[in-house]
Amino acid sequence: LPSGALHFGIGSYPSTEELVHALPTPLANRPHLATHLQALITGYPGQIREFAASPDDKLYVILSNGSCHIYDDGKTKSAAQRLDAPDIKDMFFDAYPLANPTDTLPEDFDPGRARPEAFFKAIYGASAEEVSRSLVSVDFCGKKVSFTNRNGAADALKRVAADLTAIVSQHPESRIWVEKLGGTYNWRPIAGTDRLSMHSYGAAIDLNADRSDYWKWKAPGTVRTYSRKAFPAEIIEAFERHGFIWGGKWYHFDTMHFEYRPEVLWVSRAGPLQKSP
Ligand SMILES: [Zn+2]
Repeated sequence: LPSGALHFGIGSYPSTEELVHALPTPLANRPHLATHLQALITGYPGQIREFAASPDDKLYVILSNGSCHIYDDGKTKSAAQRLDAPDIKDMFFDAYPLANPTDTLPEDFDPGRARPEAFFKAIYGASAEEVSRSLVSVDFCGKKVSFTNRNGAADALKRVAADLTAIVSQHPESRIWVEKLGGTYNWRPIAGTDRLSMHSYGAAIDLNADRSDYWKWKAPGTVRTYSRKAFPAEIIEAFERHGFIWGGKWYHFDTMHFEYRPEVLWVSRAGPLQKSP
């Protein structure tokens, strides 16, 4: 954190909007800033301690473990650069669509796929060993899976599982989608990259691997009317209801993949779909 930064503790203001009002003017006037900060506070309860404004009007998010994460690094990025070196703002670059089913998506539209690694390591653990200490077993549609109990993720998965159990009992034909799980916790980079997957934190689950499509194995344009639309909307909605985003809503699709991203869904529900500035 640069010296001379001003600190804004979240407990010192009646609302996030008032905190943003108290920031130096260039920051206070930023579109969507209050929405993004509120999404972090709501999505990661107890984890966001304060914000800090540096003399050159950069904003930092300071977590309860003391780590410091820049909101906007000021760089203009390509889609690939947003994945490789995202700041906090880049988490919200594409607004995650709540509508189902999903059909054609614009090129490089990947809502939630940019994940600032230092932020998620601070929340869930910075190593396999540290993440492992927080894993608990969750009953998921007749199987036991390992999920992180940090940040309410395992509890959220339990709520998804309860909803899915009800859906499957009403619509037995949907059972195939919650069988043959592809896995949850696995400390590993995303294939072909050095970026950690959300599976590394025990905060993602892959459903029926047999029926999935992955952009690296199939041209992004070809999934439109195939598994993206075939995936039962009520299953997707059960996940979304409890804070999980679906990889089928990415241009670079991963249709078996659901990850716990309550902040991304919070922004989608907060108002009309808008791109970040
Ligand atoms: Zn996955």
